[in-house]
Amino acid sequence: MNNKHITESSSASSPLLEGRSKSAVDYRYLRMARIWAENSYCKRRQVGALVVKDKMIISDGYNGTPSGFENVCEDEEGITKPYVLHAEANAITKLARSGNNSEGSTLYVTASPCIECAKLIIQAGIRRVVYAEKYRLTDGIDLLTRAGVEVEYKSLEEDNDPTLDSI
Ligand SMILES: [Zn+2]
Repeated sequence: MNNKHITESSSASSPLLEGRSKSAVDYRYLRMARIWAENSYCKRRQVGALVVKDKMIISDGYNGTPSGFENVCEDEEGITKPYVLHAEANAITKLARSGNNSEGSTLYVTASPCIECAKLIIQAGIRRVVYAEKYRLTDGIDLLTRAGVEVEYKSLEEDNDPTLDSI
């Protein structure tokens, strides 16, 4: 009988706390993804991605050419080469060579996923996507939503980042 009371009171306060800490963790992983993007040798745009499961980073990626190719993303005219892989695709395909399983994981990516990456995200069993930068095309986001993947946009502008309040 006492237990019931305890359960009720803790369930009334914990969702808020959980929501807050989840959000702070989201921002930290997103910032890590942004730092990871600095590994990219692409000049036009640098994108970073992390796959997190059970509080562990199980994969990471940034946009770039496939293994064994030159570390140059753009041709002489500055146009991105067609065989450059997006950060999400690199993170997901890296999982294919590892012992990790992305089922039920969260993907953090510094830019809005395109439709090609959205397909991979769905097929990899990723359940949640947190991204930092909106893109004019929303077909990737729309596809994820249609597939039941939870999608969340979080701006990395300092004004919106609650974890930077105390700094
Ligand atoms: Zn993509």
